[in-house]
Formats: sequence, structure tokens, C-alpha cells
Amino acid sequence: MIPQETVQRILDTARVEEVVADFVSLRKRGAEWWGCCPFHNEKTPSFHVVPAKGIYYCFGCHKGGSAVGFVMDHEHMSYPDALRYLARKYDIEIVEEEVSAEDLAARQRNESLTLVSEFAAGFFREQLGSVEGKSIGLNYFHTRGLEDETISKFGLGWAPSDKHSFTDAARTKGFKEEYLLETGLCAKYDNNEELHDRFVERVVFPIHSVSGRVIAFGARTLKSKEDGKPFAKYVNSKESPIYVKNQSLYGIWFAKGDMAKKDRCYLVEGYLDVISMHQLGITNVVASSGTALTDGQIRLIGRFTKNVTIMYDGDPAGIKAALRGIDMFLKQGMDVKVVLLPDGDDPDSFSRKHTLEEVEEFLASSEQDFVDFKSSLLMEDTAGDPLKRANVINEIADTVADIPDAVKRETYIDFLSRKFDIRRDALEDRVGATRAKNIIAERKAAERVHPRSLSRVEGSQRTAEGESLAPEGELQGPVGEPRRTTVGEPAEPRPGIDSRVQGGDFSSSLARLEENKIMAKAERDLLNFILTYGTTTLEFQSDSEFYADSEDERRTVFDFISQALEEDDAHFSNSVYKATYDAYADDYYDGYAQDEIVKHLLDGPDRNIAYVVSQLSMTEVYELTIKNLRDAMMSRGSWLTKFVPKAILVFQSCRLEDKENSLKQELAQAQKEADSGRILTVMNELIEIRKTMKAVKVRLGREK
Ligand SMILES: [Zn+2]
Repeated sequence: MIPQETVQRILDTARVEEVVADFVSLRKRGAEWWGCCPFHNEKTPSFHVVPAKGIYYCFGCHKGGSAVGFVMDHEHMSYPDALRYLARKYDIEIVEEEVSAEDLAARQRNESLTLVSEFAAGFFREQLGSVEGKSIGLNYFHTRGLEDETISKFGLGWAPSDKHSFTDAARTKGFKEEYLLETGLCAKYDNNEELHDRFVERVVFPIHSVSGRVIAFGARTLKSKEDGKPFAKYVNSKESPIYVKNQSLYGIWFAKGDMAKKDRCYLVEGYLDVISMHQLGITNVVASSGTALTDGQIRLIGRFTKNVTIMYDGDPAGIKAALRGIDMFLKQGMDVKVVLLPDGDDPDSFSRKHTLEEVEEFLASSEQDFVDFKSSLLMEDTAGDPLKRANVINEIADTVADIPDAVKRETYIDFLSRKFDIRRDALEDRVGATRAKNIIAERKAAERVHPRSLSRVEGSQRTAEGESLAPEGELQGPVGEPRRTTVGEPAEPRPGIDSRVQGGDFSSSLARLEENKIMAKAERDLLNFILTYGTTTLEFQSDSEFYADSEDERRTVFDFISQALEEDDAHFSNSVYKATYDAYADDYYDGYAQDEIVKHLLDGPDRNIAYVVSQLSMTEVYELTIKNLRDAMMSRGSWLTKFVPKAILVFQSCRLEDKENSLKQELAQAQKEADSGRILTVMNELIEIRKTMKAVKVRLGREK
């Protein structure tokens, strides 16, 4: 357990903009920072960080929270593990209190897998200093031109030829067989076989997560044949909970800073390509080693820069891979260029033959736009064949059709028209037709797949940390209270504030937490007011029924709402909204300021509450409303005095509707049982409810 004072120190020290910047490339605009959201796929930044408030928020997917919340959501960590991560980042020592059995169990799995991997990385590194390691492994790295400093920076190592050496070392350290197997560091082909190393007599490249922990390995053999049989040149770690291949890039941990700073990423193919380029001084380089390029990897790059240069070998395989990569990058809205290296060179050999200046100059002068690249490539064997030439032009136009940005598409159509001397409208027709075809195909594909209600964090590594404490609640409904069934169709649109107060569409993202649909929107609206203006005093005009003469009687937004609820003996019926309301009330009565309360709720371990708060507390979401307010020539104060009482009326009206619904059900039941006494009572109650409903509706109508 982390002592409470330490928790506080960590939360006070962590700067949200610094924590987020480790994962997202941010640009400053005024007092805020903006970047592309790491939680959903986007091309223009809608993710912003507000240092003054200690929060981040995405206008696209409505994810938001504090520094610790960001780490939890982005790295899939539990609350305590996110705190430990922040403590590491800010050099805050944690003297743990006695660790409970559950804590231990919770941290076990993923942390164990990461610890095994990090132990293995240390073991392989050490082995590079052994007699065998030196003479084979280290010697190999040296002949490839790697300096000792580079070898140690990338943590390169040696897996010994004795196929039990790692297994024995790990067992001596007490690592469990299940983790050794799950990370793919050890293997046994059937149950009778003894556990043994999976990486044997190979040089080893550790693979790091975005946050810098070792999650996997690539291992290369230096032999070409064994007993006359050829075998795999590379063996890589298998997929595991901490290593999701299609979302990992080799070198990302070392490259991400410069990718953001230089606003460009070089994509190469192999481990040694990355390492040699880094050694030369070009450090914004990553590789999709071990897999063909995937969309997840492109999104990972896209978090740091939108500009990519594919730098592959000039052989047919490299060209084919580059062509495939171009289309994938363009589809994701990235700008892509291609550099093909001179015959027979890969980035590794090329960077070893040349100085930094020469390589930089070569890159600058040989970078090709994808149109130039494709056309020069495809035009080669079309000489004198008009049909072939037309096919090539159509193919390039189809690539242009993949570009999401309309202005860019237009620019390319102009360019193609000039380059090939083709009528512009002919090209336009082709691009338009292909786009239409693609859109229909995409729509069909989307219909086949169930839409996911929330973008489960994509493109991020699952690192470390205990699953059972993980913020899964955010993705499920709240547990504990029984689900209330609601009757009939979803509630009709309500009069009054609904459309005004809701600046963004959070209804869909919060809907999965709501049990009572009839009440949900009204409760959300009240929480909106509480979480944005809860401590603001309401200044009613003297002709208002709520006008208070004396200073003491003046009420804040929260006072006003809580008193109205008490008078009605009403509670929020959606458990997560009730929990949020109660948590706010606790802090409010403790005398905290609005921003402190919001930050505290965002920082809290209950991720459902933090999620609700992040959706409903960002004043910026209300820009639309505030714009309405400006249009209406209304001050914020009088806007609040108008709409807070109205929100309560809407809430009351929903409660009556909810009550009416359950009475109707009761009536049906009583009729089925022919219980005339009960029928009469329920009908009387219904009449009363409907009278009150009418009165509330009249008031709502009057206060439009
Ligand atoms: Zn987003």
C-alpha cells in the first residue's frame, strides 16, 4: 500500500502536460496544449490539456481526466500502479505500507510478465560479456559497426548456446514457469519435456514499449545452417498480454521525442536499420520489425507526427512493401514520402558507409512524393502502350482517392493532370468514383461489425500492472445495484434545457453506465451544472421567487440543487450519477473550491466517477452553450439563474414520468390479478401524478 501522504505528494507533483507529453505530441496554443487524441483515431487535434486545471480532454471521443487518470487509461494500469509510475517519473520515493494479499495478487500478472522480460534483458546483456557472448555476439555487433555506447543504449545481448542457461537463471530467481512460458522466453513442446530457453545461440534485441519497459525480444542467429538444415534467421517473442505485435514498433521509446520535435518519422525494416541510424545521429527512426506494417503501428506513429518517410531497400520486395505502406499511410491521413536506397543498400549498410551530413543530404534530395514514386516506378514498362499507361494513371488516381483531406486531393489532381497531361475533369471523375466505391465498401464493412460504444484504447501498449484493479469499470456498467428495467420507448425529447446544455454528444458514451434511461438525461444535466458551476453563487433578481434578501441566504448552484432534491426527497436513480453526486457533496461540505473538487474526483480510484466527471465538468464543452448565452445577450450569472431552476423542473418532470411508468405496470399487474382494491388505489395515485405532471409542464412551458 502506498501511504496517503505519498499519494498526495504524487498527485500534487504530477503535471498533466508533462505526463501526457510522454505519449502524445503536444503543441502549445495560449495557455493550453493540443494534440491528436491517443484514444481515438483522428487526423486533426481535438485533444487538449489544460495545465492550470490539471486535466486533459478530447472533444472527439470525450475522454478526459487528470494526470493519474491518463496513465490508468492510456497504459491500462490500475490506480496504485499508475501512482507508482508517476512516482518513478518524478523520483518520488514510495515507502510502501504493508502489502495486502489482494494488492499482491492484483499486481501480479502483467507486472510479472514485464519483470520476467526485464530480468531476461539483463541476463542477455550480461551474457554478452561472457566468453561465448564476447567472441560471437559482441564480435558480431562490432563487425556491424556498432559502438559499445550504442550496444548498451539499446540493451543488446546474447542468448547462450546452452539451452538451459536462461531457464535456470530465471528459476533460481524464483520466476514462475507460467510467466516464462507466457512471455515466450522459455518453451516446452509437450508436457513431458523439460522447460528450456527459446532463444538459443542468438544475438538479442530487446523491444521496448512506448513507456520504455522491455516487453519482448527479437533474436537473430549468426549461423546459416545447422546439421545441414537451414533455420529461421530471426525468432521473435510471441504475442503476450504485454506485447501486442501490431501495436508495437521497434525503437519507438528511443525515437518518439525526436519524432515529435522534428515532426517526421523514418520507417525502416529491421532492428539494425534503426540502431545504425540512431548511432549516426538520425534518431526519429522506427521499424515495424517482425510484422508487416499494420494500422495500429501507423496510429502509434501518428501520435507523434503526421509525416512519414518510408525508407526501404531498393529491391523488389522493398518496393512492394513501400507501395503497400503508401496506401496505408494515406488512408490514415498521414503525409508519406519514400526514399529508396541505392542498389544493394539497406539503411544499416548505407548509414555505415556515409557521414551524417551525407545521409541527411541524400534523404533530403531523394525523398519522393508518393505520386512521383508510383509513377516513375509504374511507367517504366509502359513505353508505347497507351492502355498500360492509362491503367497506371488510374491506379495512381485511386491512391489519391484514399486521401481523406479534400484540399490535398485537389492539389494532387492538379499535379497529376499536369504531370501526365490528362484532362483534369477526367481525373476528377475517376477519383470521385473510386471514393464513392470505397465509402460504400466501408459502410458495408462497418455494418457487418458491431460498433463499439467506446474506443477501447487502441495503439497503445499493454504494459505492466495488475489486471484486477485495472479500470475495467469504465468499460462496463457499474456493478452492485440491480438493473432497473424501464418501460416503453426511450423518453421523448424534453422541453427546455436539454438541447442547450449539451454542448457535445456525451450521451452515447455515458449511456452504457445508465440504468434508468428516463431519468438519465435530467440527472446528467443537473450534474453538468454541479460539476461546472457548483460553487458559484446564484444571483436571482428581486422579482424572482428564489430571490434572497440577505447575503447568508444566497445559495450556490449546488445548494440550490441539493435543497430542491431534499425537499422532494429525491435521489439520483442512476447509481453512477448518485455516486458522483455524493462524492461531490462530500468535498463540497468539506469546503473545497470547485477546481479542487473536480480534480479530486478525477484523481480518485473510482474510474466510473472519474469518467462521469471528465465528461460533465469541462467548461469548454459548454462553449456552444456559452455562445448561445452570448447570442442571448445574457450574462453567465443570469443564464445560471434561468437554467438551474429549469433543470430542476425537468428533473421533477422526469421523476413523475418514471413514477407514472411504474404505476402503470402496477396497474396492469393488479388488473391481471383482478385486485379491485389495488386497482382503485393505483388509479387514484395515477390521477394525482398526472395532475402534478400537468402543473410542472405548465411551469416549464411558461419558463421557456
Ligand atoms: Zn479522443
